[in-house]
Amino acid sequence: MVDPRAHPIIGTMQYNKTLPLADHEVVLTFDDGPLPKYSNQILDILAAHCAKATFFLVGSQAHANPGGVRKVRDAGHTVATHSQNHPTGMDRLPLDRSRQEIEQGIASVTAALADGTAPAPFLRIPGLRVNDGIEQFAASKGLQIWSADFPADDWRNVSANRVYDLAMQRLEKKGKGILLLHDIQPRTVAALPRILRELKTRGYRIVHVVPATPERPATPTEPQQWQLHPASEVVATSRWPKVPKFAFAGPATLPVPALSDLDWHTSNLGARAPRRGHGVPLPPVTPWPRLTTLPSAGTLATLPIPARSIFKLEEPTFRSALASAARGPATVAQARSTEASSAKLTGKSRRQGHAAAAQPPAPAGQAEQAPQQAGGTAPKPAAQAKRNARSVRVAGLKKR
Ligand SMILES: [Zn+2]
Repeated sequence: MVDPRAHPIIGTMQYNKTLPLADHEVVLTFDDGPLPKYSNQILDILAAHCAKATFFLVGSQAHANPGGVRKVRDAGHTVATHSQNHPTGMDRLPLDRSRQEIEQGIASVTAALADGTAPAPFLRIPGLRVNDGIEQFAASKGLQIWSADFPADDWRNVSANRVYDLAMQRLEKKGKGILLLHDIQPRTVAALPRILRELKTRGYRIVHVVPATPERPATPTEPQQWQLHPASEVVATSRWPKVPKFAFAGPATLPVPALSDLDWHTSNLGARAPRRGHGVPLPPVTPWPRLTTLPSAGTLATLPIPARSIFKLEEPTFRSALASAARGPATVAQARSTEASSAKLTGKSRRQGHAAAAQPPAPAGQAEQAPQQAGGTAPKPAAQAKRNARSVRVAGLKKR
C-alpha cells in the first residue's frame, strides 16, 4: 500500500526515488491496454502464476473495450491510467492539452469500470515524456507518476527471447524494481511465462502495489527505502575501505616525483604538424593555458603524506549530497562530483581488494605500500603513484 501524495514521482529510469522494495522484489507493470487479443492472454498467464500487476490503461482503449478494463479489475490487478490518446510527445504539448489527456484518460477508465470507483491514482506518462508542468499538475491532483526501474524493450521490434533476456538481465543488475512491459504486444505474451517461471526459480517475489486508503493505510516505510538510485553509490559507501587497517608506519613524507617520471614533454606542447586528413590544421597554440613554470627538480625533496581524515566520507554528508541531487538540477552537478569522486576512490579500493585477494601474500593495498616504500625498500614511488592514478581513472570511467 502506497500513499501517492507522500511520494508523487517514482521510478529510477527518471527519478532517484522508487518503490521501497526489498531485494529480490519485483513490481510488474503493463502499459497501453486493454487490447483484448493480447491483454486477455496476459491476464491468463498472470492468473496461472498467481501474480498481480499494475495496468496503465489508455483511455481510448478503455472506451473501445470497457469489458477489458473490468477484466483487469476483476482479476484483482491494479487499474491505473496512461492518458486518453497516448500522445507521443506529451512533454512538448501545451500544458492544457497534457492536463486534458490525463483527466480524460482517468474519466474513460472510470466510465469503463462502471461501478462508481475510480482507477488507482497511479499515472504513467506515454513514452515517459514528462515535464515539470505535468509533474506539478499530477501532484496537485494527488496522482503518483510512475516511471519504471527498467524496461524490457518489448515495444521494439525484437524477439520474445530478447524481451526475456533484457527483463532478466536488467532485473539482475538492480536486484529489484519496477519492470515496464506492454500487454498489447505478442512478444510480451510469448516472453511472460518464461519470465515468471525464471523469477520464481531465482527466488524473486512479485509485489502487488495498491493505493493506500483510510481503511487500508500505507505500508510503513523509512524515507531512505524510497531511494534506489543511485543504488550503486549507496552500496559503495557501505563498502568503504577499512581505514583502521591503513598502515601509517614510516616517515610522514614521500619523495617528490622527478619530472622525468611524469612523461611530460613540455617542449612539444602545441607544436604538432598540421593534420592531413581533412586539411584542417591544428591551432599552433593549445586552447588551455600553458604551464610555464614548473618547480625545478630538487627544490623539494619530499611531499607530506595525506592525513587519514582526508579519506573519510561521513555517511550523512554523502546522503545529503544525494538528497540535494534529488531536489533539482542546480545541485545535480555538485552531487555528481561527489558521486564521481567516491566512485573513483571506491573503484580504486575495490581494485586493490581484488589484487590482494588474487595473489596473496603479495602486498595488499597500494596505500599500505606507499609509506613502506618511502622508508627505503622500493625505489620508485613516483612511478607507483602514476600507476595508481591511471587505475583510478580507469575505474572511474568504468563506473560511468
Ligand atoms: Zn504507452
